[in-house]
Amino acid sequence: MDTALDGLHPVPVPIPYPMKYVNLVLIEGDGMVLVDSALDLPDARRAIERALAARGARPGDLDAVVLTHHHPDHYGLAGWFEQQGVPVYMLDVAIERDHVWWSCFEPWLERSAAHFRKHGMPGAFVADLRKVMEETRSRIRPPRNPRALVDGQQLELAGQRFSVHWTPGHADGHLVLLRDDGVLIAGDAILDRITPNVGKWVGSRPDPLGDFLHSLKKIRGMEPRAALVGHYGPVIEDVAGRSREIERHHEERLRLLLEKLESGARSAWELSLELFPQPGLSASQRRFAWAETLAHLVYLELRGRVRSSGEDPLRFELVG
Ligand SMILES: [Zn+2]
Repeated sequence: MDTALDGLHPVPVPIPYPMKYVNLVLIEGDGMVLVDSALDLPDARRAIERALAARGARPGDLDAVVLTHHHPDHYGLAGWFEQQGVPVYMLDVAIERDHVWWSCFEPWLERSAAHFRKHGMPGAFVADLRKVMEETRSRIRPPRNPRALVDGQQLELAGQRFSVHWTPGHADGHLVLLRDDGVLIAGDAILDRITPNVGKWVGSRPDPLGDFLHSLKKIRGMEPRAALVGHYGPVIEDVAGRSREIERHHEERLRLLLEKLESGARSAWELSLELFPQPGLSASQRRFAWAETLAHLVYLELRGRVRSSGEDPLRFELVG
């Protein structure tokens, strides 16, 4: 492994999603800290136990688990670690805004279903999606008592110095950890091969795409020498170059969306079918496509390029 990553070990853990793996990061030095936690599935638990056993440790020996964000594949086993006496840390914003997705699941599911319908998702599809989300919930053990980190905080993890940075966009309460030698633990704030999903979910901050683009700039400003990322990778060396590629991707998608709207008003659902025409997308993937389309629409609406009308479903149209 690159010596620049001394003391940081990517731990690929299988997940039943198209990405196939989530990369956790084991910080090893004076003690051990794990960043992120995968889904509560037997294969995932075994992969984590094996990685720790190779260093003579068990899950309960960890000093802490730090979660980059609340998505199931990063958060699902947090409660399992907590039950073994390991404190679980998240950004304060994630505890306030995102953690409730899973700790107060039923009300959140109801509000989500209404949000899907409002933006044009057909009823039968919403019903399918509820099943998918209930299955996902069964693979998650939320932490009961997550502890808060704050933006800008300096902290020592396993004897190494890090700073915590809030990078909203992919999730409202997403954090990255910058080691004092410039290595970034990035979670899903930036990814190789795929672009991080940016969705407007129920209760999301007002402008997830605006947040995301701002977070990419913030990451560039940190001048990281390398980033350990949550999927694929596991290392991105040209972080600035990759962040600019992702920016260009969104500029192109915004341009395409404006072009589609030239032929008249449509719901976010209808537009998502046109922008992501790939056949055979799973219900989950269709949901991500819809949420990303809505994030782009809201971005344009906030900048006066499109407007929405209050019909049921809500439709978006070009301004002027
Ligand atoms: Zn994620």
